Amino acid sequence: MTGTRFDLAIIGAGPGGYVAAIRASQLGMRTAIVEREHLGGICLNWGCIPTKALLHTSELYQAMRQASAFGLAADNVRFDLDRVVERSRKAAERLSNGVAYLMRKNDIAVIDGTARLIGQGRIGVTAKTGEPLPDIEAPHIIVATGARPKTLPGLEPDGRLIWTYREAMIPPNFPKSLLIIGSGAIGIEFASFYRSLGAEVTVVEMLPRILPAEDAEISGLAREAFLRQGIAIHTGTRVEGLVKDADSVTARLRKPGGDIEELTTARVILAIGIAGNVEGLGLEQLGVRIETGHIAIDEWCRTEVPGLYAIGDVAGPPWLAHKASHEGLICVEKIAGADDVQPLDRTAIPSCTYSAPQVASVGLTEEAARGAGHALKIGRFPYSANGKAIAQGETEGLVKTIFDAGTGALLGAHIIGAEATELIHSLVVAKTLETTEAELIAAIFPHPTLSEMIGESVLDAYGRALHI
Ligand code: FAD
Repeated sequence: MTGTRFDLAIIGAGPGGYVAAIRASQLGMRTAIVEREHLGGICLNWGCIPTKALLHTSELYQAMRQASAFGLAADNVRFDLDRVVERSRKAAERLSNGVAYLMRKNDIAVIDGTARLIGQGRIGVTAKTGEPLPDIEAPHIIVATGARPKTLPGLEPDGRLIWTYREAMIPPNFPKSLLIIGSGAIGIEFASFYRSLGAEVTVVEMLPRILPAEDAEISGLAREAFLRQGIAIHTGTRVEGLVKDADSVTARLRKPGGDIEELTTARVILAIGIAGNVEGLGLEQLGVRIETGHIAIDEWCRTEVPGLYAIGDVAGPPWLAHKASHEGLICVEKIAGADDVQPLDRTAIPSCTYSAPQVASVGLTEEAARGAGHALKIGRFPYSANGKAIAQGETEGLVKTIFDAGTGALLGAHIIGAEATELIHSLVVAKTLETTEAELIAAIFPHPTLSEMIGESVLDAYGRALHI
């Protein structure tokens, strides 16, 4: 497709932008997407996909090292870091190429360059060469520019000793020791990857517990599991500064009681959150409201400027690819005038951490559910009592389900253990369909599967668990 007038123009081709573009094309809109770096955004190129490729390698490595427990012999198991990284980069490249194909298939105009809003319904684009490209006009414009790693004064990344997620994904050499600052999903996934391959890993978290957004009980179990693996964890601890040496970094840690401790590691990974890419877009000139580094939107992803929308990481948390894509769909369908489109149900957005063990959840934590005034029925079922988990040698973990005691509504579900990120889906569907305990108890889970733990956890909430 050529020309500079479109029905819809999108800035940024991450999982927010490119999914919005496909849906818009399906709905008959002439659509353009401007991307300054790579199709697929952070998710496909520097986030979700390459990290999962790395984590799969580290899982296999650990499995091979435990081969004798399964009656197998695998001696002298080693890894070749360059090939580990190369495989991860190839997975990213393949998916980015896949997005290029999808753009062609859906007749979406892809414009290589950096976009800037130059007026209502108008975008200026600068090519990678620095040359200006023709302006784009569209009555509807979606900003889907994503986010970048957050930094703090004294904790600036340098790409060599102090890494962000980008450098952490393509290490030139394997670091013997690592300090990871921040224990959200990104920090914990890198902790798991590097520890599984043998690095000495220390995680520092300012808040009182790791994976702070997760249910406190699950976060506690995760902490125990990581400590058993030899990951050092300092919670309630602030990194006050980093001093670089030739090939190491010394961190000044302020411990909960106020004591100062110094820790020297080969490398540091900053995983203290992200900041929305709101700069240089011309948002202020148009009067777009920015709140705590993100574009303020309403339930249909509309900014206060008519015809201008924002989706994904740039529009605020949770910073997840599936949230970005879903917002893209809602936004575009609303623009197209669909009458069956629903606003994003934030209580049904799953959250996954692909460490070993994995952590996955949907809905309210126990604390939040109590805080919201619900009387609760809570069920728990341990992996250690599940046949498939025992057969697989994966007996560490728990499935926890939380119901409103009065109505039986499923309020939240929290899983730690093998395949937690795959198991959570049925509870996401249940939550989206506003399922109650009675419907979940009526569901038949196949035997033997890990999913049986979901049924048992629900039964346990009502004092009816069969296998514990
Ligand atoms: P992005 O993916 O950031 O895409 C924005 C795009 O906009 C980029 O390609 C950028 O180049 C482009 N852009 C920016 N400004 C301009 C401009 N002015 N002109 C043109 N183009 C521009 N999420 C999950 O759900 N699951 C995971 O397992 C997961 N793992 C992650 C692991 C890591 C290490 C990281 C860093 C993130 C991870 N995430 C994960 C988060 C996920 O990557 C983001 O939530 C997701 O990419 C957000 O999508 P987006 O479309 O909003 O933005």
